[in-house]
Amino acid sequence: MEWQATIGMEVHAELRTKTKMFCASKNDPNEQHPNINICPVCMGHPGTLPVINEEAVCHVQLVGLALGGEVQKFSRFDRKNYFYPDLPKGYQISQYKHPLVLGGNLNNVRITRVHLEEDAGKLMHDPSGEFSLVDFNRAGVPLMELVTEPDIVSAKQAREFAEELQLIFQYLGASEANMEKGEMRCEANISVSKTNDMGAKVEVKNLNSFRAVERAIEYEVKRQIELLEGGKKVVQETRGWNENKEETFSQRSKESAHDYRYFPEPDLPPMEFSDKYIEELRATIPELPEQKRKRFTEEYGISGNLVETLVRERSLAAFWEKVISELKDWLAEEEITHPTTPSPTLREGEKGGGLSLFSDALKLAANYFTSDLLGLMKEKKISANELLVDPENFAELIKMIYKNEITSRVAKDVLRIMVEQGGDPSTIIESKGLKQVGNEKVLEEIAKKIISQNSKAVEDFKKGKQESLQFLVGQVMKETKGAANPEIIRGVLTKIIGGV
Ligand SMILES: [Zn+2]
Repeated sequence: MEWQATIGMEVHAELRTKTKMFCASKNDPNEQHPNINICPVCMGHPGTLPVINEEAVCHVQLVGLALGGEVQKFSRFDRKNYFYPDLPKGYQISQYKHPLVLGGNLNNVRITRVHLEEDAGKLMHDPSGEFSLVDFNRAGVPLMELVTEPDIVSAKQAREFAEELQLIFQYLGASEANMEKGEMRCEANISVSKTNDMGAKVEVKNLNSFRAVERAIEYEVKRQIELLEGGKKVVQETRGWNENKEETFSQRSKESAHDYRYFPEPDLPPMEFSDKYIEELRATIPELPEQKRKRFTEEYGISGNLVETLVRERSLAAFWEKVISELKDWLAEEEITHPTTPSPTLREGEKGGGLSLFSDALKLAANYFTSDLLGLMKEKKISANELLVDPENFAELIKMIYKNEITSRVAKDVLRIMVEQGGDPSTIIESKGLKQVGNEKVLEEIAKKIISQNSKAVEDFKKGKQESLQFLVGQVMKETKGAANPEIIRGVLTKIIGGV
């Protein structure tokens, strides 16, 4: 029998709210100056009273609904008692018996619960080992905790689960969930066994990147299998993840719930929610990543990587939809004046039937978007938010290619300039003199000049050497800065040489 891994996840996400969980201090994850966003409440001064942040409660409930969970009609906060220098009150306000959400499911991983609590401050240990500094800006920031059932069986699945969860948090506006900034943090409970009985559970903490989630679980599963095969026991404990050494290390034996002496938070009233409230909240759930995947695939006939890129980068998705709607509007107008002109730039096999005009334009747009625009962004390390190209101008460029006004060579050059400096394609083409030389009269002049300068090649071609014609076409292309269609040049050259 094979070893089987049984993995459950705990995911913490700092919520995006104006203020902290129980006070009016600002919740600003970008604040650089330490101990600025603090007040007597989040500093745990005696005599202060917490007040529940409604925005944070809504975020957690919305996440629960989006995951198909059940928003509880009754919920309340509990005190989780422990001492740590980053926790000035000596307890954390969390939820134990009555979380906001129970149940749910994401990609066949059952969600146990989603609850709300407050984050602790941040400790910075001086490398000298002499002292530590504490920043309380994060103390009291609303923190959502999501716990899954142990339904995950591999490191890869755990990573994919965490990635999808991050997208959902972002789509809902509940959390930026930036793992690099610590806005989303994962823990994994891992055990291995050969039967369905779970072995000793090891909790791995501080997984602050998707890569860490995957690597740490891989490492831990292997470690436990090696222990068990060597006839040893796996100790139930909490382990940390050393990013540099890429290994887990023992931190402490695991606490049980009773160590925290949970009890209902006496300073906060319990919360009750009506069915009407819950249904109204459900109605505000926006399009979720999986729905967007489906819609983009069906509506635009695009697939695989392009869909995934668009689903993951919402600003690129908005860009794409704007481009497509521009092209649709334009084609609707075109169709009235020129009922059936498929783009001459598409090869025969690429021309669709029925909705052909639209699907032709769409294919062009998808090609230039994927291989050119995304390629340039990658090359120049430009993020979606820094993109200077606006969708109207990109659509304009696609129209020009579609109408055969510019060659693909010119289109690529123009797009590069648009990515580097912004601007609209017509102006760029005008200023660089890149307009397609489609006028045969002009081309004939250029071709005659090239013919008179290359009599040897002309003779060779007449003797049947096809490469010589290719050479001449290249010379004309060069003269027009790549702005002429090589097929047309070939025709013009053959005509002139034939008549010489
Ligand atoms: Zn405060």
